[in-house]
Amino acid sequence: MPKILIINTGGTISMVPSQRGYVPDGAGFRARLSRMELLRPQEAGSAMPQWELVETEPLLDSSNMTVSDWNRIGKLIAENYAAYDGFVILHGTDTMAYTASALSFMLEGLDKPVILTGAQIPLGEIRSDGRDNLINSLLIAAEGRVREVCIFFGGKLLRGNRATKYSADELIAFVSPNFPPLAEAGITVVYNEAAMQQAEKGGSKPGSGTDFRLQLLDEIPIGVIKVFPGIQFSLFEQILTEKLRGIVIETFGAGNIPGGGNELLPLVKKALEHGSVITVCSQCPQGTVTLGTYETSSALAEAGAVSGRDLTTEAAVAKLYYLFSKGFSVGEVKRLMATPLRGEER
Ligand code: ASP
Repeated sequence: MPKILIINTGGTISMVPSQRGYVPDGAGFRARLSRMELLRPQEAGSAMPQWELVETEPLLDSSNMTVSDWNRIGKLIAENYAAYDGFVILHGTDTMAYTASALSFMLEGLDKPVILTGAQIPLGEIRSDGRDNLINSLLIAAEGRVREVCIFFGGKLLRGNRATKYSADELIAFVSPNFPPLAEAGITVVYNEAAMQQAEKGGSKPGSGTDFRLQLLDEIPIGVIKVFPGIQFSLFEQILTEKLRGIVIETFGAGNIPGGGNELLPLVKKALEHGSVITVCSQCPQGTVTLGTYETSSALAEAGAVSGRDLTTEAAVAKLYYLFSKGFSVGEVKRLMATPLRGEER
């Protein structure tokens, strides 16, 4: 019988109301799980795998997650990698797509399911979506067909580094606008073999065939700038030129910036001289950045910015952390930002 490790990091699924809003409640959550008959393998029949629960300390609202929390989760998986067939990570929805993206890079050579899930309504409340999300995640992890970092939410299994939080209040909280779901849980769980195969064929697992290895992340200074009509680029000069090693610019449409880059261009050039890597993503959730399609994007390409193509901002940020933490040169980071490593971009 497969054995799954549930890692509770917090989030709405294990929260209770307090006078200042929802807060995590580890003990209450454990008690609730132990009362759920369907989670007991002996009572739910052979479908339910064996599982054990560990918690990160303290349990967090995922808005408070930092790089060291990603490292903590990564270490828990690495320490328990041989002993379990898969991992289900309970996590708040707010930054779940960032954590999933980060883990997809950190867990090199991953050959077991790692499924992040959570809830929009706490497990202790009558209409909670957490029960369904947790049970499906456990069953999918136990089946072991998907061997990458995924998010299961609202009936869909999504590649973690392609997912983004889409709704603050709907039960389908995540979408994967540039990549199809890996599986959909209706009456049965239907896997999308083509999407899964692509993950293997497309060189998205550079570590496959080698041993599993955890790459911890360093607290690299990274920034995200979202352009808007009227943006005064000169105000960003300080951070663009000196402080940040990785910069994600969220541009309009296919990579366009206001003013044809005239104002931004000298700043981008200086940042690049300082060894920053500038990655161009889009404010459009769906589609691809194609620098040079419009005059308004050519300047970025000419200045040496990298096209983030169809990367989500979450995946671009996580990938910058990962590549700099691995100690690659600026040239290598730029090259690898435009190279699919875990199926995060086309
Ligand atoms: N603020 C919560 C969190 O991210 C929201 C949620 O879990 O849905 O932890």
